[in-house]
Amino acid sequence: MFIRIPSSLEILKRIGAIGGKRGIRIYLVGGPVRDIILGKTSIDLDLVSETPAQQVASILADELKGKVTFFPEFLTARIEWEEGTIDVATARREYYPVPAALPEVIPATMREDLKRRDFTINAMALSLHPDNFGELFDPFGGYEDLKEGVIRFLHPKSFVDDPTRILRGLRFSARFGFRFEETTERHIKKDKDGLLLISGERRRKEVRLLLREGLPAIRLLEKYELLPLLGFSSLHCINPPEDAQKLFSLSDPWFFYFILLTWEKEISLLERLYCLRKEEREEIIKTRKIVELEDEKEIVLSMRGLSPAALATLYAKGVTLSLDFFKKIDTLKVETSGGEIVQKGFQGREIGRILEELFYLRFKGIVRTKEDEERWIERLKKG
Ligand code: ATP
Repeated sequence: MFIRIPSSLEILKRIGAIGGKRGIRIYLVGGPVRDIILGKTSIDLDLVSETPAQQVASILADELKGKVTFFPEFLTARIEWEEGTIDVATARREYYPVPAALPEVIPATMREDLKRRDFTINAMALSLHPDNFGELFDPFGGYEDLKEGVIRFLHPKSFVDDPTRILRGLRFSARFGFRFEETTERHIKKDKDGLLLISGERRRKEVRLLLREGLPAIRLLEKYELLPLLGFSSLHCINPPEDAQKLFSLSDPWFFYFILLTWEKEISLLERLYCLRKEEREEIIKTRKIVELEDEKEIVLSMRGLSPAALATLYAKGVTLSLDFFKKIDTLKVETSGGEIVQKGFQGREIGRILEELFYLRFKGIVRTKEDEERWIERLKKG
């Protein structure tokens, strides 16, 4: 079967032709093939060839005037060129020395390369060679599953080999509204404890991508009883408002949902499970504290420096002032510097207090310009 490739993806033809001239067959594989069939026109360029990636990437980089980096231990290469990034891999097999660990890779055929993938819908390749440009290589029935809206793993040991595939499956199910095939679904329930074995960095990466999909993804985590395994509270406990993501313009809502889902949990647990970054840890602690505050000024001053995700969390927790704060955020800048306040005759702790007061007055709309600030300081001086 041939797939129609939109003309906006002219680059694919170019890549195929560059390979073709040297007798090399290059394929587009995985997610981007799925996305083209689903009608998307913006895709990742993930390429595979049975010819070593190093050779393929060098040839492509030469012709496209790009810069190439090799990752020999993974048999992959990355080309950076004027229009973006191209990932090239040698067709490879994977071997799991221990379940849930990272696999070792060995060169292989295209078929074997597809066989190591997570789901049938992600296990297709498109030939880019001029002889058969656009021909679909689909050994596991991914096309039909895609049309039917079904997520099906490739073999029953799949989730034992790599438990993160469970989270990946949920991600695609949430994103496309697809259902799990029966056996695959049974194995989610059977093999889910494997999620306890994966490293913090892998858990972090997959959970982050999953929470990006928003509430539908969290509902699936609840449905498959995965929330406790990830250190999350149940959905009815967190009860996130549907509109928060929009109100706070969160293009990636992961951290918003993450703070909510872990609200009741010890920070040390989150550090262990998710390798929290220092800034994230601090933001979570600060957000939790603000919810306990009562004084408006104290709340406003504490919200300084918080990310939109943390402000959205406060909103979800009933601190509705955070929405007002978010909307005004661009106007909330005190223009008078500490030095200027010193020149006006103030010193020590007074300076910080004046800056805070000015910030709060900006928030209240009482002070709007630098002249307003100066007038207010003058008045303060006169007592
Ligand atoms: P997205 O659209 O969210 O980027 P994607 O399918 O492109 O999703 P990637 O993480 O970029 O996902 O992975 C690219 C491809 O690599 C997948 O489509 C799949 O074929 C394969 N893959 C990725 N992770 C795994 C995994 N853990 N196990 C098996 N195959 C995987």
